[in-house]
This record gives sequence, C-alpha cells and structure tokens, in this order.
Amino acid sequence: MTDFQNKLRATPVVDELKALREAIWFNDGVKPAREGLLRVGLTQADVEDAQARLRRFAPLIAAAFPETAATGGIIESDMTPALNMQAKLAERAPIAGRLWLKKDSHLPISGSIKARGGIYEVLAHAEKLALAAGLITLTDDYSILLSPACRQFFSQHKIAVGSTGNLGLSIGIMSAKLGFHVTVHMSADARQWKKDRLRAHGVEVMEYEQDYGVAVEQGRQAAASDPACFFIDDENSRTLFLGYAVAGLRLPAQLREKGIVVDADHPLFVYLPCGVGGGPGGVAFGMKLAFGDHVHCFFAEPTHSPCMLLGMSTGLHDAISVQDIGLDNKTAADGLAVGRASGFVGRAMEQLIDGCYTLSDESMYDLLALLYQTENLQLEPSALAGMSGPQRITASQEYQARYQLTATMMENATHLVWATGGGMVPASEMQGYLARGRSNA
Ligand SMILES: *Cc1c(COP(=O)(O)O)cnc(C)c1O
Repeated sequence: MTDFQNKLRATPVVDELKALREAIWFNDGVKPAREGLLRVGLTQADVEDAQARLRRFAPLIAAAFPETAATGGIIESDMTPALNMQAKLAERAPIAGRLWLKKDSHLPISGSIKARGGIYEVLAHAEKLALAAGLITLTDDYSILLSPACRQFFSQHKIAVGSTGNLGLSIGIMSAKLGFHVTVHMSADARQWKKDRLRAHGVEVMEYEQDYGVAVEQGRQAAASDPACFFIDDENSRTLFLGYAVAGLRLPAQLREKGIVVDADHPLFVYLPCGVGGGPGGVAFGMKLAFGDHVHCFFAEPTHSPCMLLGMSTGLHDAISVQDIGLDNKTAADGLAVGRASGFVGRAMEQLIDGCYTLSDESMYDLLALLYQTENLQLEPSALAGMSGPQRITASQEYQARYQLTATMMENATHLVWATGGGMVPASEMQGYLARGRSNA
C-alpha cells in the first residue's frame, strides 16, 4: 500500500486528474520502436497471421454482409482530409501540419473500431472449432460455414462478452450470424438502442446496474461455469489486440494512395480514443510495426475515466482504478467509460505510447457539433476524443523539443484522428448529441 501511495505521490499529473482538469502526460519511458516492440510479446508475424485469417474469411464476410461486397469482404475504413474542420479549429489554436480523419465510425457491420478486434476474435474462434471438426481446411472458401449444417454445429457453442456497447454489437452480430449462442453482458451506461439492436439479431443481452468492470466480471463468471462457452476477454485478449493491429499493416498502402509521405521529415501523429486499451493499443502496435519511430501515438480519454493515463503514468497499470483517486467513471463517451485499464495493454505498450491526454465530455460534444457543421460527419462523443490532440501537440514545445521536431517537420506532419464510432447511431439520438454540442458553444 505504501508503494501504491508513493507511486501516486511521485506522479504530478495525478493531481490534475483528481481535479478533472484536461491534462496531458508525455511518456518518459518511450524507447526507440525497435527496442520497445520487443516488450509487446507479439510480433509482425502474429499480425500478418491475423491479416491472413481475415483474408480467408473475406468470402464469408462478403456473402454474409452485402455492404462489404465492394471491398471483397475486407472490413476497412476510408481516411479523409478534414480541411474545413482544421480551419475552424485554427480559429482557436493552430494545427501545424494537416488534419485527417480515419473513419472507423463508418466501418461496416457495427459502425465502430470494434468491427476490427471484436469480429476478428469471433472469426478466430469459429475457425479453430471448424478446423478441429473437419468442416473446413485452410484453403477452402469459408463461406460454406454459412450453410445450415455449419450453423447447426456453431449453435452448440456459446460466446460471451462484457461490454459498454460497441464491442457487444460487433461480437453479438458476428456470432449470431454464424449461429453461435451469444450473450452480451452490458454495463449500465450502454445505450438502449445498442441493446435493442442486439436483441433484434437474436443476441441474449444481460443488463447490469454497474460499470464496465462489473459487466466483464459477470460475463467471465457465467462463462467459467460452462465448458461450451467461450469468453472474449476485452481486458486481456491478445487475439482482439491482433485484430486491431491489422489496421497498422494496411495503413502504409492507404497513405500512399492519398499521396501522404511518412518519414523522418514527415512525422505521423495518431490520436486514439482509449477505453480499456485493446483497440487503441492494438492499432498503435500495428502503427509502430509499420512506421517505427516516424509515428507518434497518443491515447485520448475522458476526464472522468482516465484509466490508461493513470495506470501508465504511475506504473500501476491495472492495480489502480480511477475510483481509487476519487473519480466516478461517468462519461457520455460510452466506449470510454472504463475505470481500470487492461494490464496487458498498458504493460505491453509501455515503451511505445508517446503520451495520453484527457478531455471533458463538454469538449467532445463541442467537437462533435463542429465536425458536423464543417464536414457534415456524424460521430458519437467518444469518437471525438482524438480531435483535440493535434492542437495540443502543436502547442507543446516540450514535446517537440524532446523529439527534435523542427517547425518545418511540424508543418509536414500528418495528424490522423481516429474517429472510432458513430456510424450506426439512430438519427434521434444523434439530434440529441448535436443539440448538446451546440448549446455548449
Ligand atoms: C471501444 C471504443 C473505444 C476504445 O477501445 P478500447 O479497446 O476499449 O480501448 C474507442 N471509441 C469507441 C467508439 C469505442 O467503442
């Protein structure tokens, strides 16, 4: 306990977190990518393996979800410049370089970043079962798994997951499509429409009055007592992490297509909204594999739920929760309402994440309304968490000096704001978000 107290006291940013101020923390423990990557315990080959698995499943995805036919069953998002938004933001504070949006908000099937990791882990589990049962070989067209006989096989197996909403949507929809019996354990903050949509897909939804940590624990326990049930562990899963990491391997080609150069003179900054850490951690891992030291990765969290900033800055990782420093873990950014970070991600990425910052719900709503006004794009609040990053990095002489980023290099920079969700938010719900953003302005 004294060690715990000492670590807290030795970390000045904790006082800012306690006061709910919008804080920024730069990681003194960052190592050159080649060195830091060794700490992760996973390799480029692991991510390539995940990428190959997603390719094997592409014919199945294309057949099951017609909206993915155009990309041949590959679930990937577009990236777009946000020039109007950049101009609008610059009225308040400058952004050196160019602002881009990575539109995971518009990923097919579940409209959030969870369409990467969540769907991937369901597919990895289904493949394992189907290979063992002799239903497929690695070279088959996997769309045969959609046949009634295979669905009948999967229906004898169960999948369970705890979620604040979006992970449940991804895992629920994918699992139900294959025929699994799937149960989603939802925390109190999960939106009603997400529960309704899952039930409409035949997913069993269990509701809890507590937060995400409790929902996950309930799911874990329910699964532990049933050998036919596979629990997808958002707090610890390497499989989920690898599903997210594939994004990094695909990004170099996408950047080339857009004419964007990333090298020593043209840094890439990536801003990732962070809940438990698997999504942003996995993407950041893929980015570091792809771009090494030329990419700088930042995690963005709500002022009421800064679990990763707290865990990484104190070095306590999952041994501390935001409740331990008196915060309530209540935020409108439902994907980010997580009080305790993944112990796996924080430790694995300890030498690769350049920093974390927090922003208030009001800031997210404000940015949400501005993005709609300037770019006609509708996102959910959590997906705006990355949007205040570029101005904060542009303003930080400390950070630029640390990495010897000159003014010219900053002018050459690409700021990629990961827009993590919102594509499936019902219109009435979105009207409420926009109204709240406008009234704050
Ligand atoms: C889940 C989620 C995140 C963060 O992912 P974690 O793996 O929980 O860190 C960010 N944005 C949205 C919209 C999400 O649903």
